[in-house]
Amino acid sequence: LASRLPAVGTTIFTVMSRLAQECGAINLSQGFPDFNAEDVLFERVGHWMRTGHNQYAPMAGCLALRAAIAAKVETLYGTAYDEESEITVTAGATQALFTAVTACVHPGDEVIVFEPVYDSYVPAIELAGGTPVRLQLSAPDYRPDWEAVAAAITPRTRMIMINTPHNPTATIWTRADLDRLAALTRGTGIIVVADEVYEHIVFDGASHASCAAHPELAARSFVVSSFGKTYHITGWKVGYVLAPRELMAEFRKVHQFNVFTVNTPVQLALADYMADAGRHTGLAAFYQAKRDYFRAALANSRFDLLPAHGTYFQLARYERISALGDTAFCEHLTRKVGVAAIPVSAFFADGRDERVIRFCFAKNETTLAAACERLNAI
Ligand code: PMP
Ligand code: GLN
Repeated sequence: LASRLPAVGTTIFTVMSRLAQECGAINLSQGFPDFNAEDVLFERVGHWMRTGHNQYAPMAGCLALRAAIAAKVETLYGTAYDEESEITVTAGATQALFTAVTACVHPGDEVIVFEPVYDSYVPAIELAGGTPVRLQLSAPDYRPDWEAVAAAITPRTRMIMINTPHNPTATIWTRADLDRLAALTRGTGIIVVADEVYEHIVFDGASHASCAAHPELAARSFVVSSFGKTYHITGWKVGYVLAPRELMAEFRKVHQFNVFTVNTPVQLALADYMADAGRHTGLAAFYQAKRDYFRAALANSRFDLLPAHGTYFQLARYERISALGDTAFCEHLTRKVGVAAIPVSAFFADGRDERVIRFCFAKNETTLAAACERLNAI
């Protein structure tokens, strides 16, 4: 069979979680919490199931949920998105990203991405017949080089995909970055896809610079978020996308045929849950405490921790421990030390190995303590 994605194997998150399970290792690789969401959310799902809300939701999502999203986004970012025409509920952020690319990228179009890049972006571009144009972010700061972005833009550039707070580097972009992006894309017809799934997980008093809060960018952006990250329900696979009406019309042409719609009782439960507008307010402090705990627990280890400004990921160098490449080192760590992590080379097309690995600290303190005890012993 002639593969549509000849260079693609199995996603690193599946590979490492499976290895962690096989080895009985503590799994700090794939990003997901090991603690539960609030009971009230489960009660609401049960309520809507028992009262007969178990058939197809409207194609773009339950209106109650879209209205709750519109209210939240307007309060947080000051932009009014019309729930009828400018908000769509998706099967996680993954589907929103994939559908936005599929709907807008024509064969031969160029799409700029920043490496290390989340692993689903480039396959989506390639399946659409687009050409990924990879710009590099480098350790330890991983800052975008705006001169390089300017130089990479051509008449064929259709889209720029950004991610802030950034997985895996834990960096965040500033409002000044968004201003640069706006200036570079002004008058070009370039569409921005802003992956903001960690929008509420920013630390040390920083605030999240959302494209939804930048009127010029919002007018040419798909802004993507995920309930999985915000409410500790990654396995529910529900997210959403915001976009101006004309872009959303194109998005829905594809969405209606690749998922049509997502889980009805879960959407209705999320709408109820969001009626309490403060649901996400403690999230940054909650994860900052975990970040601080994890960093303090590894302070005397032989890992060198990179700065962590947002997301629930911590990058670490290990050159004082081992000369192995990052993939081999993660395998060793999982098999022999009993802690699984993600090699950051998996986020580079050419496998560029800067000897950096990623830990997920979205875990109970007991889990983090047990992992750090093992990591301190090597
Ligand atoms: N984008 C980024 C940067 C992510 O980290 C993730 C999930 N870890 C996703 C998208 C996918 O989100 P979802 O699980 O809602 O599909
Ligand atoms: N996005 C999560 C991570 O970075 C994993 C999601 C997935 O497994 N696809 O670990």
